[in-house]
Amino acid sequence: MPTDAATPAVSVISDRINALEAPQTIEMAKKARALAAQGVDVISLSFGEPDFQTPQYIKDAAKQAIDEGFTFYTPVPGIPQLRQAICDKLKRDNNLDYQPDSIVVSTGAKQALANAVLALVNPGDEVIIFSPFWVSYEEMVKLAEGVTVRLEGALENDYKVTAAQLEAAITPRTKLVMYSSPCNPTGAVWSRQELADIAAVLARHPQVLVVADEIYEYINFVGEHASLAQFEEVKDQVVTVNGFSKGYAMTGWRIGYLAARPDIAAACDKLQSQVTSATCSITQRAALAALQGGRASADEMVAAYRRRRDLVLEMVKDIPGFVTPTPEGAFYIFPDVSAYFGKLTPAGDTITTSRELALYLLNDAHVAAVDGGAFGAPRCLRFSTAAADDKLIEAFRRIALSLAKLH
Ligand code: PMP
Repeated sequence: MPTDAATPAVSVISDRINALEAPQTIEMAKKARALAAQGVDVISLSFGEPDFQTPQYIKDAAKQAIDEGFTFYTPVPGIPQLRQAICDKLKRDNNLDYQPDSIVVSTGAKQALANAVLALVNPGDEVIIFSPFWVSYEEMVKLAEGVTVRLEGALENDYKVTAAQLEAAITPRTKLVMYSSPCNPTGAVWSRQELADIAAVLARHPQVLVVADEIYEYINFVGEHASLAQFEEVKDQVVTVNGFSKGYAMTGWRIGYLAARPDIAAACDKLQSQVTSATCSITQRAALAALQGGRASADEMVAAYRRRRDLVLEMVKDIPGFVTPTPEGAFYIFPDVSAYFGKLTPAGDTITTSRELALYLLNDAHVAAVDGGAFGAPRCLRFSTAAADDKLIEAFRRIALSLAKLH
């Protein structure tokens, strides 16, 4: 077999990395970009990114930090003012009491999640992941040499895992539970009662810890955001992860955080101190300003996300074979598209998976979506609704036309 520098005969890469999947969200975006580079008018609904600019007052704080020469390393878990502001936010928005030694600021919520998983999971530990789940959870567990146990939420329950399901899945080897609410990819929001029921199960298993990913907290269309850590009997078992990427449209700034009991926070700080140190000093000052500005800017964006969700649901209603629960938060729709499995494309190929359907839609409708398999739901496709209204209208018009050609 011929070899080249990119694919040598013997891989020098570690088994750990060879076993990792590349995120499909990024793969689809790459394919869409390649098509666009050939001059095709591609509408990309594959990325989980707000299409809004970061609010001006946040940008101004970053400029000021640069002008003041705030360009040095900061303490690893974040500058004291930001850790305090995060405590204030958790009190104000979530009625959670934390001291700054419970807060670790990281390079995105993604690093906060990785810190928590690597700080808590031993090889062979079971990690229960509510499915559908965000793409990186399972790969982080793999890196920690844990064993993933997928727990599937039923379509009829808007893909939300129930307390009874959780109780049945816990074994003596269970170390951690991971979920996001509002959920990426489904948009499901666990209600206070649903979380109370889950807390009651966890209280019976004090050795089980939980990573509650609340990065979409502000992008919520039902009003109330409940946090698992609000249930006092399990608060010490919960690591709450949140950040600025979604609520403040700050994806490129790379900042997120976790709140946990001090021994867990200290372990995350220790890991981070050996890997990246603190995130960017300027970004931290921007995030401090973001929190001081409250959530008014987020509320404006949420009004747009809600309008777009309603717009898309209205269009999707008329697409046969798309079964779509109403998302209560985040900015995705996640239809079950399995009605199209077994159908033939005009070129005579049979669609057998949602991945093939995603590729067909990319090539025929020039709309990029992500295969639900990446999120543990191979019957589904994920479309981001964080795009301008006219783009969404055009995308779903094209999708309907392309799907109508399948027989
Ligand atoms: N959790 C979920 C559920 C997400 O969707 C994302 C971003 N796509 C992240 C975490 C990571 O966010 P950040 O940009 O803060 O790393």
